[in-house]
Amino acid sequence: MCARHLHPPRTLGATPTVELAAVNRPEKFVSTRRGFLHVTAGGLLGSGALAAAAGEGETAPGTTSQFPSYPNLQSGEVIRTGGQVSADQRQLIEQPRAIPIVGTSDVLVCGGGPAGIGAALAAARAGASVQLIDVAGCLGGVWTAGLLTKILDSENKSGVMAELLAEFATRGSAAAKHSSGTVYDPEIAKLVLEELCVEAGVKIRLHTRLVGAVTDDSGRLIAALTESKSGREAWLAERFIDCSGDGDLAAHAGCGFDVGVGTDCQCQPMSMLALLSGVDPEAVRPYLRGTGSEAKRRLLELMEANGVKPSYRAPTLRHLHSGIYSLMTNHEYGVSAFDAGAITEATIRARREIHEIVTGLRKLGGAWQDLAVVATAEQIGVREGRRIRGRYHITASDLATGLRHDQAVCRAKFGIDVHALNDLGHKQIDQEFKKGGARPYDIPYPALVAADVDGLLMAGRCISGDFIAHSSYRVTGNSVPMGEAAGLAAAVSVQKGVMPHDLNWREIQNA
Ligand SMILES: Cc1cc2nc3c(=O)[nH]c(=O)nc-3n(C[C@H](O)[C@H](O)[C@H](O)COP(=O)(O)OP(=O)(O)OC[C@H]3O[C@@H](n4cnc5c(N)ncnc54)[C@H](O)[C@@H]3O)c2cc1C
Repeated sequence: MCARHLHPPRTLGATPTVELAAVNRPEKFVSTRRGFLHVTAGGLLGSGALAAAAGEGETAPGTTSQFPSYPNLQSGEVIRTGGQVSADQRQLIEQPRAIPIVGTSDVLVCGGGPAGIGAALAAARAGASVQLIDVAGCLGGVWTAGLLTKILDSENKSGVMAELLAEFATRGSAAAKHSSGTVYDPEIAKLVLEELCVEAGVKIRLHTRLVGAVTDDSGRLIAALTESKSGREAWLAERFIDCSGDGDLAAHAGCGFDVGVGTDCQCQPMSMLALLSGVDPEAVRPYLRGTGSEAKRRLLELMEANGVKPSYRAPTLRHLHSGIYSLMTNHEYGVSAFDAGAITEATIRARREIHEIVTGLRKLGGAWQDLAVVATAEQIGVREGRRIRGRYHITASDLATGLRHDQAVCRAKFGIDVHALNDLGHKQIDQEFKKGGARPYDIPYPALVAADVDGLLMAGRCISGDFIAHSSYRVTGNSVPMGEAAGLAAAVSVQKGVMPHDLNWREIQNA
């Protein structure tokens, strides 16, 4: 397995110390927290370089007097960045600056996708004050910004997952009702998720990316740093839950993690989803997902007969409502979830491919002559990022034996689903990974608890597991109950004044 960062240092001596401006800091934080904190944010610069960048005669880093006050957001003011280019011209050495603390909460949830929604709602409903942060302009992650439209492995789930399915079905189209909410309209999902979070008292901050995290000397996570139009900001919390999919918060906090498979960290491909319109559902029925296992093959043959060769050989076309369809038919191979440049190129390629495929189908005429792209996902679908090291590691052998665990937060039934890792043909690769097979298995609570940093839980596709196990538990019907469990655990651990790893799942449920 690719293991990039397995044994992180407990203390981060090589990183600079940066002061967080202690404005509006509640009494409990002032009395229990140190003024200077270890930070991993915005790169690893040597402290010597930073001191040099601050310049002679200036106030020592760590005191507030040299720092500008808060910017006036209303008038568009900013806190300017100071710095200088290093002698070798390879780095920009940023000058230390005070970062305003803009929020304090019992529980901070990073990422408002399926896992983050479960986490935020459960923590808030258990009485915790909750701050939810997401980089996108809506809640829902791959459900909404990713235009997914299908929830897998939710049938045996209760709690928040069942509640969401009921909302999606009640407020959705005939297809949503017919599928008990598992086929949903992303626009309705956006609205439902916002309403539920607002109603539960969750504080939501959209358009805001987590870019750093702060641990204290004991290895406890105490603050998250973000960047947005409001500038660089700090958020304090008693407990944190990483629901970023890619494990961004945990990585910044110094957790160990695994990525992909093999020494080159090969990951599953990315795919961009799209919404289409302009065809009569009856006329294209044989090609629609949900009408039989042959639909994908027929659609592929139709495309190929017309000279269109989709990069994903099992195209899925699903009718959502009123002549609106969801399409998934492309693969982007070898793109790192941590390389914004590569993701940008993949996004541009995938969007172009979707338009080419639709143009190709339109040329068929007949039922397809008015086919049109209504929307492509704003966020390309990322199947794999970091798998954060937890206090239990779910493995392929757990799937093969059908793990039963006394701290099970839910039972996953979805099979091993490894897409092609390259464009040489996916079937052979798929079969290779499926060798051990899978039976329904438990997701243990300790797999949601970070091993290397205290006060941090994970939920969704970034929990602790191996490449094969991840290919199964990653689907959203499991992400929501994982989030719900992590949210409840975080709230209970605050109430009891103990760390999440000191709690047993049964104790949490009975609290
Ligand atoms: C193409 C594709 C098809 C799939 N098909 C299905 C399917 O049919 N059914 C199914 O159930 N599952 C499917 N999956 C799997 C499933 O979508 C994911 O594994 C699932 O989304 C995991 O949920 P999550 O909440 O962990 O992550 P995500 O949905 O990825 O949510 C992560 C959230 O965190 C936010 N975020 C990320 N980084 C930061 C940061 N640094 N700062 C702030 N916010 C951040 C994101 O904006 C996002 O809202 C598919 C996945 C892909 C990619």
